[in-house]
Amino acid sequence: MSAPIRIGLVGIGKIARDQHIPALAHCDEFTLVAGASRNATLDGITTFNDLDEMLAGNDELQAISLCTPPQVRYGQARRAIEAGRHVFLEKPPGVTLSEVEDLYRRAHQAGVTLYASWHAREAAGVAQAREWLVGRSITRVDIQWREDVRTWHPGQEWIWQPGGLGVFDPGINALSIVTHILPMDFFLTRARLEVPENHQAPIGATLDFTDANDTPIHADLDWRQTGPQTWRITVETRDGTLVLDEGGSKLFIDDELVLDGDDVEYVGLYRHFAELIRAGMCDVDIRPFRHVADAFMMGERVIVDAFHD
Ligand code: NAP
Repeated sequence: MSAPIRIGLVGIGKIARDQHIPALAHCDEFTLVAGASRNATLDGITTFNDLDEMLAGNDELQAISLCTPPQVRYGQARRAIEAGRHVFLEKPPGVTLSEVEDLYRRAHQAGVTLYASWHAREAAGVAQAREWLVGRSITRVDIQWREDVRTWHPGQEWIWQPGGLGVFDPGINALSIVTHILPMDFFLTRARLEVPENHQAPIGATLDFTDANDTPIHADLDWRQTGPQTWRITVETRDGTLVLDEGGSKLFIDDELVLDGDDVEYVGLYRHFAELIRAGMCDVDIRPFRHVADAFMMGERVIVDAFHD
């Protein structure tokens, strides 16, 4: 087996601590050798004030994982690519489609790997769901993605600002699964965005999509759900109904639980990143992000009550 890839983490916030650091500790393909943070330090790991210092002080560093909010990701990714490092992007990959395409072009020209990751695609039931749907005739799709923003984004301001995506920050996870498991491309026909009067980004959204077969695909995204959380995708076909529940970790076929897996999403992401680096490839699938852009472009905007943390 080849030597572990030396990686540095940028932005030591909620997702870096909840997922990236534990996943890297379980992943033989990588060694975490540096962090870049304006505020945090990492036990036993050299921490720099920012990415530029980290790149300058670490010739041995081969890859960078960006766990910062999307509004600052382009500049960081571009500098890392220019410095010849492989780059892992948290989801969503940026704030505009054009900047992500620009990064892809730059990575290609520089001969480094760019991985626009979609963690929800690594949920335990997703691969089997995709397989089960091959060749089946789909009649209806329903997405219910409702969670409590106060639990998952405590005190975060960037999520409400332009580029923060609001409820599409979690909603894009559902779109990343659906674009991966459905055999056909689909497109938006109607969107309604509920925007709190004190914020720029929506707290709720209802979306309708269809495909070339006129399949109805409906999504309810909501950030105001307290109590049990709902992350469910239902796909009805002519010979059975598939349900991916709890974010994709549970798979039901015709109400029978066929798979109930552990949370292995981020270990899966880093394994895939390592494979891409070894193969000299990029993986930049912008379809989930494009659906969000479409919703912002054509969505009806309804102003709702102010929301406070
Ligand atoms: P966060 O905790 O608010 O921010 C992550 C870190 O980024 C911050 O702690 C800060 O790190 C750095 N940062 C914040 N603003 C910055 C700025 N203006 N310039 C430079 N660095 C800045 O956010 P998060 O929840 O971890 O989310 C980060 C990304 O992960 C998002 O794209 C989100 O969609 C994705 N994600 C989040 C979750 C979740 O449950 N929260 C789940 C999956 C994916 P330093 O203080 O170390 O500089």
